[in-house]
Amino acid sequence: MTLTVTDVSLRGLVAAILEKTSAPAAEAKAVADHLVDANLMGHDSHGVQLIGRYVDHIQKGLCKPGTRVSCVNDAGAILQFDGGRGFGIVVGREAMQAAMARCKTTGVVLMTLRHAHHIGRVGAYAEMALAEGLVSIHFVNVVDHQPMVAPFTGRDARFGTNPICIGIPGTARTAPFLLDMATSAVALGKVAVARQAGTSVPDNAVIDAAGQPTTDPAKYFGPPQGALLPFGLHKGYGLMLACEMLAGALSGNGTIQPETPRLGGIVNNMFSFVVDPARLGDGAKIHHEFDELIAYLKDAPTMTGEAVVIAGEPEAKTRDIRIRLGIPLPPGTVAELENAAIASGLGYNALKDLKKL
Ligand code: NAD
Repeated sequence: MTLTVTDVSLRGLVAAILEKTSAPAAEAKAVADHLVDANLMGHDSHGVQLIGRYVDHIQKGLCKPGTRVSCVNDAGAILQFDGGRGFGIVVGREAMQAAMARCKTTGVVLMTLRHAHHIGRVGAYAEMALAEGLVSIHFVNVVDHQPMVAPFTGRDARFGTNPICIGIPGTARTAPFLLDMATSAVALGKVAVARQAGTSVPDNAVIDAAGQPTTDPAKYFGPPQGALLPFGLHKGYGLMLACEMLAGALSGNGTIQPETPRLGGIVNNMFSFVVDPARLGDGAKIHHEFDELIAYLKDAPTMTGEAVVIAGEPEAKTRDIRIRLGIPLPPGTVAELENAAIASGLGYNALKDLKKL
């Protein structure tokens, strides 16, 4: 049965599990907040259902709580960091904060972060920049575990779900633009949910182990394992490969090619630009252009009768709803939380503190 709970009580439970698993209190809170915020925004695949994996990775030494980001190259508008397998959510924030501070003097910063444990929902880093009126662009690759996504025309998996994110500040009339997406046609978490629910996945999203298209989510998992497909045929595949080259190679860590170790954790590398739009000319004119562009799009006739959607709107809407009505936790996620609470030593009873709605 689905359990619907308040975000506040869920934050407390996840932080307690992480603290019990050796995370310093401030880090446990930051990671819990990030995961619960992902749930609030409707990205359940990047929410608290990850807690079991985080606990497992900490216990195996594949994620190292208490690790600070270290700067490996400080060269004006270029800043490069190593995350040392620390919580990606912690070292990612530290690297972003440094890039945003530097952007105040340089106007533009290229920041790379290598060797961070899972950085979670990439939109969170763009939101940090948006809060200071900054544009940001992020390319991310995923290493340390088995590939999940096939290259265009390929018959087996050779990539992670390599996300790309672009945040552009809004105006008094227009909400910020926040495009935050995996380069796979669907997130792996959504395939897992479809398998659990006995439903299909969309066309052109999954191939089976023989490389044949399928809408059966179980064919992804096998064994033998199938693969997800990139979104948008060769175009998504091109962007997915760009993530490997930019985030994997230029960060100095590694791409998903087999020489890069696969220890069974999740390691993200990120290649980000941070730009101060105030350096680019007449702010009033730029804002006018944004406002008129979005009004023009919103005025488009649609097939659904509803106005076209701008990236970032679905998440903002879901957040409003879930803050009021709670976060639904399907049985699989409740089981993840129970198992993680037990594995951490906190115990199963900790779930009693969840406030139901
Ligand atoms: P998604 O497909 O739900 O949304 C992608 C983007 O499309 C969002 O910006 C959303 O606002 C926008 N959008 C949604 N519906 C729209 C519509 N009807 N019209 C216009 N725009 C619309 O997201 P996803 O690809 O499943 O990614 C989910 C999350 O997973 C992201 O936060 C991403 O950063 C994260 N992720 C992280 C990793 C990692 O390794 N850290 C890997 C993959 C994905």
